[in-house]
Amino acid sequence: MGMLDGKTGIVFGVANKRSIAWAIAQRLANEGMRLAFTYQGERLKENVAELTSAMAGSILLPCDVTNDAEIDAVYAAVGQEFGKLDALLHSVAFAPKEDLENDFVKTSRDGFKLAHDISAYSLVALTRGAMPLFEKAGGGSVLALTYYGAEKAVEGYNLMGVAKASLEASVRYLAANLGPQNIRVNAISAGPVNTLAARGIKGFTGMLKHHAERAPLRRNVELEEIGSAGLFLLSGMSSAITGEIMFVDCGYNVIGL
Ligand code: NAP
Repeated sequence: MGMLDGKTGIVFGVANKRSIAWAIAQRLANEGMRLAFTYQGERLKENVAELTSAMAGSILLPCDVTNDAEIDAVYAAVGQEFGKLDALLHSVAFAPKEDLENDFVKTSRDGFKLAHDISAYSLVALTRGAMPLFEKAGGGSVLALTYYGAEKAVEGYNLMGVAKASLEASVRYLAANLGPQNIRVNAISAGPVNTLAARGIKGFTGMLKHHAERAPLRRNVELEEIGSAGLFLLSGMSSAITGEIMFVDCGYNVIGL
């Protein structure tokens, strides 16, 4: 018997087996949650299909989170298959490479808009889309992924830090707005992990080394550990927690000097 038997969830943001979304999804599925996965564009379909095909009862749907029609189609399909939703994992982010690499002051208007659309506004749109299915489940739990660069200026994180600040504020406003419907909204602020998205950050290898040297636990976080924290926040174990940004970073964020 799994702790999440009979529960259903949707996962946005699996690109490959190193994705944070995949680490969390595996923990959810191991506890019995039935999952829907989305992929962005045909390029990634094969990868994600290969991973998810072994997961009993899972479904796979296309969704570019900037496209409202695709979001509607995803929830229509999930509604038909699952009939309700208990959990939503948002593990999606993007900023144009030149805007990440340039001096922050040179950030383009279009890059700023796109980064905020994909990395922050999508949480609002995806949560709104899930609401009718959450209602059928008597409530829901939403989880997003963020990084310390939302709070402090981190070299190389630039535009993504500003988009993450918007994402974190959106977590709090959604939590305040949707709490009366028993919908909880939280985020994990993860320490650096070597993924596809992380490779877009200039100096990422140095960032990993620095975190491991300075963090109280003197190491970097493992994907499995983010998976465990995700399971906690998306399950009833965290039933009184909402609007929270929970650090899963080996303690790095508590260090001043
Ligand atoms: P990842 O495996 O590359 O996942 C990022 C996902 O976002 C990919 O599946 C990507 O698909 C998707 N995405 C981008 N634009 C999209 C769009 N328009 N529509 C739908 N999906 C889109 O990297 P990850 O590190 O696991 O990232 C997951 C989350 O964790 C992100 O929010 C990231 O900022 C956050 N995070 C990461 C770290 C870290 O160190 N890795 C630390 C803290 C927080 P495509 O590949 O097709 O673009």
